[in-house]
Amino acid sequence: MQRLQAFKYELMPNGRQQRQMRRFVGSCRFVFNRALALQKQRHEQGEKKLGYARLCKELTAWKRQAETAWLSDTPSQSLQQALKDLERAYVNFFEKRADFPRFKKKGQSDRFRYPQGIKLDQANSQIFLPKLGWLRYRNSRTVLGTVKNVTVSLSGGKWFVSIQTEREVEQPLPQSTTAVGIDMGIARFATLSDGSHFEPLNSFKRHETALRKAQQAMSRKTKFSNNWKKAKTRVQKIHSRVKNARRDYLHKATTTISQNHAMVCIEDLQVRNMSQSAAGNTDAPGKNVRAKSGLNKAILDQGWFEFRRQLDYKLAWNGGYLIAVPPQNTSRTCPACGHGSKDNRQTQAQFACMGCGFEENADLVGAINVLRAGHARFACEVSGAVRPPAAGTRRGESAPVG
Ligand SMILES: [Zn+2]
Repeated sequence: MQRLQAFKYELMPNGRQQRQMRRFVGSCRFVFNRALALQKQRHEQGEKKLGYARLCKELTAWKRQAETAWLSDTPSQSLQQALKDLERAYVNFFEKRADFPRFKKKGQSDRFRYPQGIKLDQANSQIFLPKLGWLRYRNSRTVLGTVKNVTVSLSGGKWFVSIQTEREVEQPLPQSTTAVGIDMGIARFATLSDGSHFEPLNSFKRHETALRKAQQAMSRKTKFSNNWKKAKTRVQKIHSRVKNARRDYLHKATTTISQNHAMVCIEDLQVRNMSQSAAGNTDAPGKNVRAKSGLNKAILDQGWFEFRRQLDYKLAWNGGYLIAVPPQNTSRTCPACGHGSKDNRQTQAQFACMGCGFEENADLVGAINVLRAGHARFACEVSGAVRPPAAGTRRGESAPVG
């Protein structure tokens, strides 16, 4: 099987390289935003959306205009990748995987990508990037496979390089043969049908106070003054700390689960729909907007999507499967007698069957039902009765980022 993997390292650029990279990041953001503005304008005028090839032609024209000639200082391929990102954002939107593309702001996903022209010298811990030259990096592990593309990013004041590779590996045999169902929750991040569970992450909550204070401090400073810049760096540092804590947590959880089980069943939750319906719209404002957006924030903070994405590719690496099941009735069906009623769920935490009196933690009951639904689904798949679920089977397509 093809294995895609990303290897990420901290870069040690010199002053010139840092200045250039800032410029590249800014130029890519400019191109993305300008192309998005163009598409929006065309849409308003009832014109068709431009395809990638046409956008590239626009880009060439922008480079020729005197006021945007500075775009030529940035590698063309990286600017084109920004247009590709916009294309991808539209596709994700049309396929209901994401919200409508938004304009990029400085300090948010500051990055640019090279699809080619990279040279990697691992023995000397350096990498050659077009228009930047050789850069040293903190070589913490060996890159395996053929380099497909390289992303340079700025986070918390540091520069990183993520090297995406591809290699052929033998289809692994699962180390384990057990199957497990997972119930995702707020009070407990994940409850497994074997009775174990993961505590909530709440990385954002924990840093929320610090973040609010830092933001307030920033707002008191004169904009663009040195003190303002210092305060801004502090805000960005807290943001990246939250991000790192969440990533570490999710990686640990998904590694543990994927190593211990061959088949993992999970509810097919549409997080995006949940966060949208909470806000409602002007005709029908969402009920309990505050409470619901609190819940949604908690869900997103928990990183359920990322959890599922990681589980998917890690299980594939280990020869296992992820199976997504529709979430209906998983919380109110009795695993002992099959009696299904909303009365079974007396409280958020406790399940008590009205039919047979079976009592158990409600999250555990959910996990057991998810496992059962997964088994049913898996049997159907093997007999070819239904198409594979969206998640578990798109091997090789998911691009893991470490
Ligand atoms: Zn029962």
